[in-house]
Amino acid sequence: MLVVGLTGGIATGKSTVSTLLKARNIPIIDADLLARQVVEPGTPALAKIKQTFGDEVILPNGALDRKKLGSVIFNDEAKRKQLNNIVHPAVRKAMLFEVVRSWANGEKYCILDVPLLIEGPLWRLVGLVVVVYCSEELQLQRLVSRDSCSREDALSRIHSQLPIADKVAYADVVLDNSGNKAELEKQVDALVQRLDKEVGWTWIVGYMFPP
Ligand code: ATP
Repeated sequence: MLVVGLTGGIATGKSTVSTLLKARNIPIIDADLLARQVVEPGTPALAKIKQTFGDEVILPNGALDRKKLGSVIFNDEAKRKQLNNIVHPAVRKAMLFEVVRSWANGEKYCILDVPLLIEGPLWRLVGLVVVVYCSEELQLQRLVSRDSCSREDALSRIHSQLPIADKVAYADVVLDNSGNKAELEKQVDALVQRLDKEVGWTWIVGYMFPP
């Protein structure tokens, strides 16, 4: 099965692409969604978070107090790392589980929707990297309008990430989201067509040269 990684910079249009793909019945494995699920009450990751950061980050109903945890790790690189060391492996395990589930369901390919794909180890594991790109100025405009934040705030969020141009360097496919949504949709359709073709070849090569 072909595993595709979908990524981009903040507000370049990754979620918009993900929604378009879902509408075409393409299986999407959403890292943000899994990151919320792996810290739900009763999970091993939440137990480790409680053990590491104390009861103060747990709400009376047993759920994670995200606001409190955010304030605990704010400006504390060591604590942020500790948290990432708990959550990231749990998310990767959940993703792997979902990939295996897609494969068992007979899917020919699946898409991992991972905002920080290039920054982590996962990009090495995917067969095809798709980056949703737009210029920094457009990123800024779309972020300000979507989140109703100031230009300064938006700029500092953009600059806290790996620049989009650096991500593009890792891409096998770039979806250029500089135009309108209809233009993006056309590129998504072309991507789906290409995936169908690549999967065809992957399968043929797989049959000819079994591992
Ligand atoms: P994040 O990384 O913050 O989750 P994202 O990359 O998923 O962001 P989206 O939320 O898909 O980005 O898009 C950012 C904003 O830009 C949204 O409000 C979306 O509706 C808008 N947008 C996306 N593509 C276009 C486009 N081609 N034309 C106009 N607006 C767009």
